[in-house]
Amino acid sequence: MQYVSTRGAGPAKFTDILLEGLAPDGGLYLPERYPQVDAAQLEQWSGLLAREGYAALAFEIVRLFVDDIPDDDLRGICERAYSSDKFSDPAIVPCTRHSDGIWRVHLSNGPSAAFKDMAMLLLGELFAYELGRRGRELNILGATSGDTGSSAEYAMLGKAGVRVFMLSPAGRMSPFQQAQMYSLDDPAIVNIAVDGTFDDCQDIVKAVGADAEFKVRHSIGAVNSINWARLLAQVVYYFAAWLTITDEEGPAARVAFVVPSGNFGNIAAGHIAREMGLPIVQLGLASNENDVLAEFFRTGVYRPRATAERTSSPSMDISKASNFERFVFDLLDRDAQRVRELFVERLPRDGQFDLSAEPAFQRAEARFGFAAGSSSHAHRLAEIRRVHEAGDGLIDPHTADGFHVARELAVPGRVMAVLETALPVKFAETIVEAVGVAPQRPERFVGIEDLPRHVREVGRDVDAVKAIIEETVGGR
Ligand SMILES: *Cc1c(COP(=O)(O)O)cnc(C)c1O
Repeated sequence: MQYVSTRGAGPAKFTDILLEGLAPDGGLYLPERYPQVDAAQLEQWSGLLAREGYAALAFEIVRLFVDDIPDDDLRGICERAYSSDKFSDPAIVPCTRHSDGIWRVHLSNGPSAAFKDMAMLLLGELFAYELGRRGRELNILGATSGDTGSSAEYAMLGKAGVRVFMLSPAGRMSPFQQAQMYSLDDPAIVNIAVDGTFDDCQDIVKAVGADAEFKVRHSIGAVNSINWARLLAQVVYYFAAWLTITDEEGPAARVAFVVPSGNFGNIAAGHIAREMGLPIVQLGLASNENDVLAEFFRTGVYRPRATAERTSSPSMDISKASNFERFVFDLLDRDAQRVRELFVERLPRDGQFDLSAEPAFQRAEARFGFAAGSSSHAHRLAEIRRVHEAGDGLIDPHTADGFHVARELAVPGRVMAVLETALPVKFAETIVEAVGVAPQRPERFVGIEDLPRHVREVGRDVDAVKAIIEETVGGR
C-alpha cells in the first residue's frame, strides 16, 4: 500500500509517513485507495472479535494498510497496544445500549481516560518498533487542548527512542487534565505551557515544523491527529463497534455513528471505514458552539474562525479542523490540484471557501453519509442530566454533545450509536453543575493534583520552544 498527499506528493510508504507527519507539500497523507471489505469478511471478523478479541481484529484491519512491516511483527504491535491490562474493561471497546435505545461506544477505558488512547497506544508501539529498526530517535512535538497531551504522554512513556514535547494553553485545561500531564516525572516528557490559546500552540508546532532544517536536525515528529497512523488505529473501532452492535440488533440493523468532533480526526476514521465498505448509514458530526464543521455540512461553506470560543466541551474548541482537508480530497474525487488551490490559495486569501455549488457537495450526504448538528452548554447539561436520571450512568460533556445531536438525527428504523470520547472524571466541574454529584474517580487517578508539577512556561514564542527542544535534545 502506498500513500499520497492531499496536495499531490507521493507515493510514500507507511513506515516513512509514520515518522513524518505532514507531507512535504504541506498536505495530509491518505492511502492511494481504500481496501474493500465485503459481508463475508465482516461475518468472519465478527467471529474473530468474539473469539480472539480487539487486538486480533486490529491486526486484520491494520495489515490491509501496512505492507512494510512483517505480519508477525505487526501482530505483536497490535497485541501490545491493545493488551487488556491497559484498559479498565477487557472488551477494550464495550458497547452498551441506553434505556432510550441509543448506544454508547465506550472508547475511554484506556490509560488517560479519553478515546485518543485508542490511537496513541498503537502509535507508541509503531514508533518504538520502527525507530528500533532504523536505529533512530524521534522527538515528538505536539499541541493539546487537553486530551491529546496526556494520551500521547501516557502512550509514549518508557518507549525507547521517543521524547515528547507537548505544548498546552496555560490555564485553559481542566485541573484534572493539567494534573494528568504535569504530574508525569520523566526526562523524556517535556510539558510546555504557552501563554495563549490552543490555536497559538498549534501555530507554534506548525512554525517549528516549517523549519525543515531544524526538523531534520532534531528528528521532529508529530502525534497530532494529522498523523495517518492515528486515523488508521481509529478505523478499527468503527468496525468493532459495528460488529458488536449488529450482533445485538441483528445483521440488517441500520447503524449510524454520531461523533463529537473537533479536528475531524475521529470522524475521518469513520469516513474511511465507510469507504472500505462498512455499512454505516450515517456519520453524524457533533460540534459544540465552535461549529465550523457543522456549518460546512449545513451550508457548503468552510469558514475557519480567527479564534475558538471557550466552552464546557473544550477538546472540541477548534477554529479550524486540521483533518478536514482529507475529506475535501475525497469529496473532490481526489483532485489534488483543486485541494491545493482551496487550501493554499483560496483559504489564505478569502478566509473561506464555498463548495455549495459543487455537485459533489450536493451529493455529499447521500454519497458519504454525513450529517451534522451542534449544541450549547445548556444542551450538554440537559443531556448529562437526562442520561443520569434514566439510570444510564454519567457521560462527559463531549459525549453529551454527541447524545444531543444523536437525538436530533434519530429517525425510526435507525440505530444511533454515540462515540464516547472521554470519561466524565476529566470534566468534573460540568458534571457537578449538571447533576450535583462528582463523577467517580478511577483508582489510578486518585490524588494526582497533589503531585509535583513538571511544566515549562513560555510566551507565544516559537524561538523559546525551539530553545527548550535544543537544550533537552542536546543535553542527552
Ligand atoms: C480530541 C477530542 C475530541 C475531538 O476529536 P477530533 O478527532 O479532533 O475530532 C472530542 N472529544 C474529546 C473528549 C476529545 O479528547
